[in-house]
Amino acid sequence: DVEIKGATKQFGGNIVLDGIDLEVRQGELLTLLGPSGCGKSTTLNLIAGFLEADQGDVFIKGKKVTKVPPYKRDLGMVFQTYSLFPHMTVYENLNFGLKLRKIPKAEQKKKIDRVLALVKLSGLEHRYPRELSGGQRQRVAIARALVVEPELLLLDEPLSNLDAKLRHELRLEIKRLQKEIGVTTIFVTHDQEEALSLSDRVVVMNAGKIEQISTPTSIYKHPNTEFVFQFIGKSN
Ligand code: ATP
Ligand code: MG
Repeated sequence: DVEIKGATKQFGGNIVLDGIDLEVRQGELLTLLGPSGCGKSTTLNLIAGFLEADQGDVFIKGKKVTKVPPYKRDLGMVFQTYSLFPHMTVYENLNFGLKLRKIPKAEQKKKIDRVLALVKLSGLEHRYPRELSGGQRQRVAIARALVVEPELLLLDEPLSNLDAKLRHELRLEIKRLQKEIGVTTIFVTHDQEEALSLSDRVVVMNAGKIEQISTPTSIYKHPNTEFVFQFIGKSN
């Protein structure tokens, strides 16, 4: 579904990604796990086509992502600093992508109602972001990514600003949603427990390289490198 081949990326002489190879399978929930600064967000931005690799390529369904115009890229993204449009209501935030895709008016409301029910925010469509709690805003950001029914969902630490209880609840909710919709999902986190409990497969990254790609069980039981052993073993 998504394929990264030999991607490298430098910023001002610093090698941030040092030859990444990755295949993401249709319908799976894949997590990029690694310490701060290891290149997770950069990898996600390459997949979204917001950045171009210095060497190597990213393919989505066999097409180079940078050759597809942004509005035709069939993906939804929640950014690390998830940002709703502050001057728009929840409804308007969700409708933004639908209008862009020229979805007929009658269908807009149906789609928005459905996705708000999924993230348990029905009834809040006329609130502005400032009138919502942090967790509710995060759910709106997820709903906004989902409402366009993307082929690919990219979530960059979508739970990082929440307290432990809410993080746990939303983690389960994302997993449920992902399986219900069956959307191929790449989830970024630096929290090993989150990665292990959520994913079909985990990609452990360190300093711009992939250390190991495997199922949570096998990463936990059979770490391939000293780094993976140390990183999985320590708790936050
Ligand atoms: P975190 O968990 O803190 O979000 P990350 O794994 O997402 O970290 P990246 O955001 O991918 O890390 O950044 C990787 C490295 O690249 C960091 O050292 C960062 O400072 C650097 N970097 C990222 N974007 C840029 C940029 N636009 N210009 C210069 N350096 C950048
Ligand atoms: Mg990041």
